[in-house]
Parts: sequence; structure tokens; C-alpha cells
Amino acid sequence: MHLDTLTFMVSNTLITAFSSLCLFGAWYRFNRDASLLWWACAHGTNTVGIAIVILGFAFHNPVLLPIGGVFLTFAPALVWAGVKRFYGKTVPISLLFAGLIALLAVSVLPVDIDHRQWAVTVQFAAWTVYLLLAVASLRSNSEENLPGRRALMILLSIHAIIFIGGLYEDLAGTFDASAPPDLLTWFGMIHLESIFYASGTAFIVIQMTRERNEQKILECAQTDSLTGAVNRQAFFEGAKRLLERCSRDGSPYSMVMFDLDHFKTINDTQGHQTGDRILISFANTVRNSLRPNDLFGRYGGEEFLVVLPDASIETAYVIAERVRKAFADEHRFFDGLPLDATVSAGVASIRTSSDLNEIVASVDQAMYAAKHNGRNRVERAPDQKGAAVQRGVVARIA
Ligand code: GH3
Ligand code: MG
Ligand code: MG
Repeated sequence: MHLDTLTFMVSNTLITAFSSLCLFGAWYRFNRDASLLWWACAHGTNTVGIAIVILGFAFHNPVLLPIGGVFLTFAPALVWAGVKRFYGKTVPISLLFAGLIALLAVSVLPVDIDHRQWAVTVQFAAWTVYLLLAVASLRSNSEENLPGRRALMILLSIHAIIFIGGLYEDLAGTFDASAPPDLLTWFGMIHLESIFYASGTAFIVIQMTRERNEQKILECAQTDSLTGAVNRQAFFEGAKRLLERCSRDGSPYSMVMFDLDHFKTINDTQGHQTGDRILISFANTVRNSLRPNDLFGRYGGEEFLVVLPDASIETAYVIAERVRKAFADEHRFFDGLPLDATVSAGVASIRTSSDLNEIVASVDQAMYAAKHNGRNRVERAPDQKGAAVQRGVVARIA
């Protein structure tokens, strides 16, 4: 079987068209995610461009080649837009069309140049620049842990490198734009490599979207929708993991329980909506006082728990006291009216491997002591292990 460039170009067109269809399908399926639409259009535009160029070569029609070039110059701009949109950003219209404007300029400017050859140069340059911009955009969004991001960067970089090779051949004068390039040239390789590029990028982009959706669903399932703190079940799962880790390392493990003071009265006098806003505000105060590895969860109603791994009871006390004071200071007034909202807290700590129920019972007891001693205060658990529960209710873990 004889494999020439045209054969690869036809395979490339079919695979790029199929990738585009898959991306359109995924766009429809994933709540019309705009990024997938940009990618689908990028592959679609690419398909049309290559198909027109193939027809130009097959029927020896030189008019078709620049028409195909228009589509092929625009396709990489759509790739860049697709990557930017994935991270919630947009590409300015002027930059989106910059490649096409440059193509138009070299095609119609009345200067003494080989317009067709320069149009090809612009086309190669557009692919190179837009692909590198897409790679830079992926690189700058590394904080979101999405498997596939690096693979996408690699695929786009390989594609860009081949275009840089093509650009080099073009500038060196060894590239003939009027016939299919030899397969064993930089640019000839693009038709082989594009098969991996088109199918690979489509697969990875769809996977990344799916992964992000799953992460969002998981996050929703673990988060209290009002305050953004982790919900009770996720909190105890996390608290257990941290307890195991601290026991293994022999490091201290502390917990704080917060309970807003006279919250029922606040609801009764200010209304439930204001009550909700105060809960949100309290959660923000706590988050501002915690360390990155601390775990903050809503225990229920106006009661919250915090796990402070690697923190002694003294550190936990200082952090709880910081939250208590900040909350009281920030809520002397609310919406311009006097409020004087406060919070009570109990802290406890364990050093050795212990039952999570015990430490919850300890902080519950300490918090009850804070209420008993006048509220708006922090109390340490009198006994760190197996404290008798005075409230008559053993805190049960969900
Ligand atoms: P104490 O100082 O002893 O803790 O008194 P308290 O009024 O805060 O305690 P109590 O347990 O009697 O009341 C808690 C109140 O918290 C009752 C309930 O309506 C309110 N609450 C629980 N969850 C929410 C919520 O999501 N939003 C609002 N607005 N109120 C809530
Ligand atoms: Mg309560
Ligand atoms: Mg309360």
C-alpha cells in the first residue's frame, strides 16, 4: 500500500471531523459548556480548511488553497479561546481575529511580495502563536487539580513545534505551498501528527470537563450550602482521617466546638434571613482565622466544629479566642443596627489514638461550660479523655 501525504490528509480530515462531532455532542451533554463549543468549532473549522485544501490539490485548483487557508488560520484562534473559556475567561475579539487580519493584509497589500507564500507564512505563524498562547493559559491555571491538563499542554506543544518546523521550512524557501508537502518534512509530518492531535485533544478536553463536573458534584455533596463549611458527614470523615494521621505521627490533635449565643432570640427579633446572613458571616470569620490544613464543618444548626491537626490545646484555645473576639467585634452592629452577636466555644485536645466520639463529647462539655459561665467565652475541656457528659446527650457521630 502506498501512503502519500494526501492519504494522510484525508484521514486527518475524517478524524478531525469526528472529533468535532464528539465535542459538539459533549457540549450538548455537559450543560452547553461554552469551552467545549469553542473546541468543537475549532476542530470543525480545521476540518473545513483541510477539506478545501485537499480539493484544491486534487483538482489542481489554486483558488481553493487560499480559501482553505482562511479556515486554517482561524482554527487555532478558536483553540486558544476554548482553553481560555475553560477557565472562565474570554479572548478579546481583536486578538481572536488578529491572525485573519494579518492573512488579509499580506494577501491584498499592493507590495511586491509573493502573496501566496506570505499567506502560508502567516498561517504557520498563527498556529504557532495561538497554540503557544493556549499552552501558556493552561500553564497559568495549575491550581485546579485536573488530570489531563498536562497531557493537553504536551499535545498542543508538539503541534506548535511542528508548525515552528513548518515555519522554518517556509522561511528557508524549501516549502512549496502549491502541492502536498513530502511526508518526510516538518510540515509533511503535521498530517500524521494531526491524527493524534485531533483525537487526543478532543478526548482530553471532554475528560477534563467531565472530571470538573464530577469534582463539583462531590464538592456540593460535601458542603453545607448556606455557610460553605463542610457538612456533618464529610466533616467526620475528614476528622477521622486527620486523627489517624496525627496518631501515626504522634502529633497533637485539637478540636473546637462553636455555638452562637442566643441565636434563637436573634432569629426571633431580626428574622431568619438575617440569622442566615449572620451564620454566613460567622463562617467567614472562622475561615479567616484558620490555617490551611484545619478542617471546618457545620455540626448542625448554629453549631460548628473545627479540627486543628498538629495543634496543642493552647494553640486551639488561642485560635478559638481569636474567632470569638473577631466575631464579637464585627457583630456589635449589623445592617447599622445594634446586635451584639457573640459565640461560645469549647476546646479539647488528644495526643494518642483515641475515639473521635470522646473528643466530640469533650468539646461539647467544654462549650457547655462556656455557656454556663456567661457565654461569649472559650473554655478548655476539664478532662481530655472520656469526660463525663453533663448535658446528658452523648454526641453521636453521623
Ligand atoms: P444558646 O446561647 O444557649 O446557644 O441559645 P440559642 O438560642 O443559640 O440556642 P437554641 O438551641 O435554643 O437555638 C438555636 C437556634 O438556631 C434555633 C434555630 O432556629 C436556629 N437555627 C438553626 N439553624 C439555623 C439556620 O440555618 N438559619 C437560621 N436563621 N437559624 C437557624
Ligand atoms: Mg446550639
Ligand atoms: Mg446557640
